[in-house]
Amino acid sequence: MREIGHFIGGKLVPGSSGRSGNVHNPATGEVSAKVALASAAEVHKAVQVAAEAFPGWAATPPLLRARILFKFKALIEAHHDELGKIITSEHGKIFEDAKGSVTRGLEVVEFACGIPHLLRGDFTENVGRGIDSWSVRQPLGVCAGITPFNFPAMVPMWMFPMAIACGNTFILKPSEKDPSTSMRLAELAREAGLPDGVLNVVNGDKEAVDAILNDPTIQAVSFVGSTAVGEYIYRTGCASGKRVQALCGAKNHMIVMPDADLDMAADALMGAAYGSAGERCMAVSVAVTVGKAGDALMKKLEPKVRALKVGPGLDPESEMGPLVTREHYEKVRGYVDLGVKEGAKLVVDGRDLKLQGYEKGYFLGGCLFDEVKPSMRIYKEEIFGPVLSVVRANDFDSALQLVNDHEYGNGAAIFTRDGDAARAFAQGVKAGMVGVNVPIPVPMAFHSFGGWKRSLFGDRNAYGTEAVGFYTKLKTTTARWPTGIRAGAEFVMPTMR
Ligand code: NAD
Repeated sequence: MREIGHFIGGKLVPGSSGRSGNVHNPATGEVSAKVALASAAEVHKAVQVAAEAFPGWAATPPLLRARILFKFKALIEAHHDELGKIITSEHGKIFEDAKGSVTRGLEVVEFACGIPHLLRGDFTENVGRGIDSWSVRQPLGVCAGITPFNFPAMVPMWMFPMAIACGNTFILKPSEKDPSTSMRLAELAREAGLPDGVLNVVNGDKEAVDAILNDPTIQAVSFVGSTAVGEYIYRTGCASGKRVQALCGAKNHMIVMPDADLDMAADALMGAAYGSAGERCMAVSVAVTVGKAGDALMKKLEPKVRALKVGPGLDPESEMGPLVTREHYEKVRGYVDLGVKEGAKLVVDGRDLKLQGYEKGYFLGGCLFDEVKPSMRIYKEEIFGPVLSVVRANDFDSALQLVNDHEYGNGAAIFTRDGDAARAFAQGVKAGMVGVNVPIPVPMAFHSFGGWKRSLFGDRNAYGTEAVGFYTKLKTTTARWPTGIRAGAEFVMPTMR
C-alpha cells in the first residue's frame, strides 16, 4: 500500500503520529493509499522549519523569487497530464476537467511571476520641506493554507504561489481525501529551485488544523472549504490574532429570463450543474426560471440530463465522474430522498445508476428537481452533488429577491438578451461573482475570487492584488536629512507651513 507522508524542509518525510486515513479511487471504491494524519507536534515542527527559512526567503529579491516561479510554471506545464491523472484518480472528476483546473491554478502562478511589479512601493517627494515618504509591502512570516477536496491543484495554487512570491514561507494542509496533488506540486516547486522550507505540505485532519490555528508563529491562514468549518477557522484564527480569509460554501443561482437564448441556457446549465459532479463551489445548483421560460427550459433540460454520460474520469467518453467518497455519495443521495419527501418534483432520478465493472464506485446519475420551493432544505442547503433544483418565479424582481435572500452569495448568473435586466441584476445582486450569459463567472487570476454573505469570512478575496494585500503588511517611512537646521523641541502636531 502506498503511504503518503508529509513534505517538510524540501524532503518527503513519513508520518509519526501513528494515525492515518484512507485515500480512495472514487471510480472503483478501492483504497489507493494511506495518508498520514499529522499530530500537533508534527505541525509545530514543520512551522519551525518554515520559520527558519523565512529570513533568507524574505531577503531574496522579488525578481529572483519570480524566476523560480517562472521555472515552476514550466514544470507544471511539462507535468500537466500527470497532475490531471493524479486528480482524477483521487477526486474522480473527468481528466480534461482535471487538467482545466490545473490550468486555472497555473494562471495564478503566471500572475505571481509579476511580483516585482506588484510589490513596487509608493514614494512621495517633499511630504514636508525636505522630507520624503515611502510605503512598502513586507511579508508576514509563516502563512498557512487549508484546502478542500474539490480542487486539489487549483485551490492550493490560489494560495501558496502568491504567499511565497510576497516573501512568506508556507504550510499547506490539503484535504485528506486527495492529498497527492499537493505533494507533487511541492516536489515540482523544489525542482524549480524553491529553497527548502519555503513550501511545506503537512497532511492531516482537524487535529492538524487546530494545531495551525493555535501556533503563535503562523501569521495568516487562508481557508477554502465548507461554511461550518470556515466560520470556526475564522473565529478561532482571528481570536488568536491571525489574519484569516475563509472562502466557504455556496448555493449559486442562475436566473433564466423569458427572452434568453434557451438552448444556450440549457447547455450552460448542464455544464454548470453537472460538471465535476456538481462538486464545485461555483456550480449552479438552482435555476430560477422567470415566467414562460420555466416550461420551455424544462423541456430542453430533461432529455439532456437523461443523456448525461456518467463514467470513470479517465474514460474520454465520460462527461461526469463519480462523487469523491462513499460518505459524500450517501449524503448527496440523502438530499435527493429528502427533496422527494419535501414535495419537489423529481423529473430525472439518477439514484439507480449502475455501471458495469464499476459497481463499487461512487457514481450518482444527474438529478433534476422542478417546483422546488424556497422553504425546502434542498433549496436552502448546499448539496455539492449532481442535483439541479428549478424554482419558478413570476418576474425579474422576485427572481432577484430569491438570490438576495439566500444565506450564500458566492456566484450568481443571469441569462437574458435584455441589457436593462442584465444591468439591474449585476448592480443589485448580493453575490461576489456575477455572470451575464456566463454560468460560472470565476474571475481570472488578475482579478480575484470571493463571495459575499456566508460564502466568505474575512475582508480579502483570494489571488489577484487582493492576495498581495493579504500576504503582506504595509510599512510607511518618513525621512529627512537635516543640514544644520536646529529648530529645537516641537510640542505641536507638525503641519505644513
Ligand atoms: P471541508 O470544510 O470538509 O474541508 C476543508 C478543509 O478543512 C480540509 O482540509 C479538511 O481537512 C478541514 N476540516 C474538515 N473538517 C474540519 C473540522 N471539523 N475542523 C477543522 N478542519 C476541518 O470541505 P470539503 O468537503 O473538503 O470541500 C467542499 C466545500 O468547500 C464545499 O462547501 C464548497 O462549497 C467549499 N468550497 C468553497 C470554495 C470557495 O472558494 N468559496 C472553493 C472550493 C470549495
